[in-house]
Amino acid sequence: MLEKFEKYQLTFGPTQIEKLNSLSKYLGGDVEIYAKREDCNSGLAFGGNKLRKLEYIIPDAIASGADTLVSIGGVQSNHTRLVAATAAKIGFKCKLIQESWVPHEDAVYDRVGNIMLSRIMGADVELVDEGFDIGIRKSWENALKEVTEKGGKPYPIPAGASVHKYGGLGFVGFAEEVRAQEAEMDIKFDYIIVCTVTGSTHAGMLVGFAADGRAQNVIGIDASGTPLKTKAQVLEIAQKTAKLVELGTDIRESDIILHEDYAYPYYGVPSEETKNAIRICAQLEGMITDPVYEGKSMQGMMDLIKKDYFPKGSKILYVHLGGVPAINGYGYAFRNG
Ligand SMILES: *Cc1c(COP(=O)(O)O)cnc(C)c1O
Repeated sequence: MLEKFEKYQLTFGPTQIEKLNSLSKYLGGDVEIYAKREDCNSGLAFGGNKLRKLEYIIPDAIASGADTLVSIGGVQSNHTRLVAATAAKIGFKCKLIQESWVPHEDAVYDRVGNIMLSRIMGADVELVDEGFDIGIRKSWENALKEVTEKGGKPYPIPAGASVHKYGGLGFVGFAEEVRAQEAEMDIKFDYIIVCTVTGSTHAGMLVGFAADGRAQNVIGIDASGTPLKTKAQVLEIAQKTAKLVELGTDIRESDIILHEDYAYPYYGVPSEETKNAIRICAQLEGMITDPVYEGKSMQGMMDLIKKDYFPKGSKILYVHLGGVPAINGYGYAFRNG
């Protein structure tokens, strides 16, 4: 579906799928859990899901004649870290607005992890005092103006690279990659678990898996804490992306499965249950998930398995989207392991 779109390679290529035997057994052995390791997808600043999206956005940035990538996120945004890495790689400047999306316990929260990496990679990082919102923000528009006023040419990339005309394409490609791997492995996944916040990861998967009738097998776990907005954004991006790739069928609201029960207490703040899910996965599989995103989708998947949400014998693909650098901002939460 993606042949007509230009792609700028930022990842290593197809990501590994591995079976999580110990976790499957721990959860009762009735389902088989596999992980697709988007967290190990690139040599660019620890990788993660935003790179698949950026692969289809960067050709447009280069063609526009811009010289500065401008983007926005929370203080520990993985997305802005990967925009900084991409800018470094392609020889662009980078301006980042980091908003106060998360109440935090650690004194060094704005000094470690993602934001530290962005600074090291040369991004111009500006901290601003606005709360969590997945939409377009004033501070971001100001940043674009500032780059222009200084004689630069900005290329805007919205939060999570989501509400960009090409934001959904990367994860359409993901679904095509899974299909090819399923054929190789002689296996078919019954469910695909994805953490959902700004929406284009889930939306791209909906379009990609709709091609073989599996849109409703994509199980979103909300980590935004504002699921109505997130769901509306997933639908909008999925419908636009479906048109763009000429899917031939429509994506409807009923195609979006989004579980809302795991984002508590807030975006970016892990509950006791999230922290426990992170520990269990780490101790059984050596696979690290973060307190903002993947820890919550891990918690959600584990809880749904315990509640027999998935029929016996199901093969479940947990998509690990990255995000581990943020864990450095949660030293207090994990001070005793
Ligand atoms: C951005 C991100 C997500 C959410 O993806 P969206 O496309 O914003 O919904 C999940 N996990 C990690 C690690 C992320 O960085």
